[in-house]
Amino acid sequence: MTEREEIKTLVSDLHDHLSWLKAEGFDTWKSEVPFSVLQDNPPPLTLRGIRADLGDCQRCRLGETRKNLVFGVGDAKAELMFVGEGPGADEDAEGEPFVGKAGQLLTKMIEAMGLSRERVYIANIIKCRPPQNRNPQADEIASCRPFLDQQIAAIRPKIICALGTFAAQTLLNTQTRISDLRGHFHERNGVKVLPTFHPAYLLRNSGEKKRVWSDLQRIMVDLGLPLPERK
Ligand code: SF4
Repeated sequence: MTEREEIKTLVSDLHDHLSWLKAEGFDTWKSEVPFSVLQDNPPPLTLRGIRADLGDCQRCRLGETRKNLVFGVGDAKAELMFVGEGPGADEDAEGEPFVGKAGQLLTKMIEAMGLSRERVYIANIIKCRPPQNRNPQADEIASCRPFLDQQIAAIRPKIICALGTFAAQTLLNTQTRISDLRGHFHERNGVKVLPTFHPAYLLRNSGEKKRVWSDLQRIMVDLGLPLPERK
């Protein structure tokens, strides 16, 4: 996370906490909040708090082999969140999601929407790289998923763009193929989910870029973003 992003996240967390205190009837951030209040109506989740809770996570075996835990990057109040499968070698080395070749393509896709990586939030279903990029196993997903759910609850995006089979099927709790899921809005706990192909798949199948662009345009329309004029 850049210094600027950290300050933005900090301000956003502080704002949420102050709003919560106000809603609970306290008028200063120095107020001592009784335990009973914290228990009945806990303060809002913050990305900083979720990251602190993860710590040097060893809740599943992937903790033993990863170089870096890849938490997520972007705007803590983003309207649009991208969720992929899990970190690859580049992401494991840098501790940031989508920084390899597929990540560079995702960045271009985001920019084509008139946005930037700083204006959206990018995360994965699992936060540590599976050895040799194998598929994550069910118990690994079960250990890691609560933290993604908490990130989604903290950010409260309007739309989640699920990248690829694994993210779409996990988020929507289905075995339906990505080719059938993509291009339509689905609903998950009150958040719209639009699955599309993973950028890594697009690198191997450039003919599918058109379909992905049409999926992204659906998101743009829903977010009220201007569509580029047809040439
Ligand atoms: S994949 Fe998730 S649960 Fe497993 S060690 Fe990493 S952060 Fe923890």
